[in-house]
Amino acid sequence: MNPTPAIDYQQQRFMYQPCLEQTRPADAALHPVVVIGAGPVGLVTAIDLARQGIRVVLVDDDDTLSTGSRAICFAKRTLDIFDRIGCGQRMVDKGVGWNRGKVFLREEAIYEFDLLPECGHARPAFINLQQYYVEGYLLEQARQHSLIELRWKSRVSAIAHHADHEALTVETPEGS
Ligand SMILES: Cc1cc2nc3c(=O)[nH]c(=O)nc-3n(C[C@H](O)[C@H](O)[C@H](O)COP(=O)(O)OP(=O)(O)OC[C@H]3O[C@@H](n4cnc5c(N)ncnc54)[C@H](O)[C@@H]3O)c2cc1C
Repeated sequence: MNPTPAIDYQQQRFMYQPCLEQTRPADAALHPVVVIGAGPVGLVTAIDLARQGIRVVLVDDDDTLSTGSRAICFAKRTLDIFDRIGCGQRMVDKGVGWNRGKVFLREEAIYEFDLLPECGHARPAFINLQQYYVEGYLLEQARQHSLIELRWKSRVSAIAHHADHEALTVETPEGS
C-alpha cells in the first residue's frame, strides 16, 4: 500500500466562495461571533468556541496558511491548549520536543538551563514545529466542526459599532 502523500501546507490554496450576505443581501446575517484572521490564534479561538456550541464565522484576507519562516517554538502552555482542542498529540508527534536549552559562544557551551526540572509532565517544555504545520493541523481540526464557517479572501475593512451589534465591511473578490 502506498503511504499517504505528505501535504505541503505552504502550497495549499483555499477557494473563495460567495457567502449568504452576497447572494441574498436583503438577509444581512447576524452572526454570534466573527473571528478575523485564520492564523494560529484565530483558528484556536474558532475551534474553542465551536466546541462550546457557538457558531463562528472565521474570515481571512488571503487564501493561504502562513508560509516561510515564522514561529518555530511552541511552549508547553500552548501544547495544553492544543490538547484541549484535540490536536496536541499530532503536534507533538510531528515536532521535536525538548526541555533543556544550551547557549554556545562559538564552539563552547557557556550556559545550560532546564525548562522542565520536575518530572511527571505529559508534554515537553517546548516543541520545534514550523508554523505552517501548526496552522495546517488546526485548519483540519476546524473543518471538522460544522459550526465553523471559513471564508477566504475576505478582508475586514471596517467595523461600525452599534448598540446591540457590530457591522463589518468585508472586501472580497466580488466586492464588499
Ligand atoms: C519571521 C518571524 C519569525 C517568528 N518566529 C517565532 C517563534 O519562533 N516563536 C513564536 O512563538 N512566534 C514567532 N513569530 C510570531 C508568530 O508568527 C506570531 O506570533 C503568530 O503568527 C501570531 O498568530 P496570530 O494568529 O495572532 O496572527 P497571524 O499569524 O498574523 O494571523 C493573522 C491572520 O489574519 C489575517 N488578517 C489580517 N488582517 C485581516 C483583516 N483585516 N481581515 C481578514 N483577515 C486579516 C492575516 O492574513 C493572517 O492570516 C515569528 C514571526 C515572524 C514574522
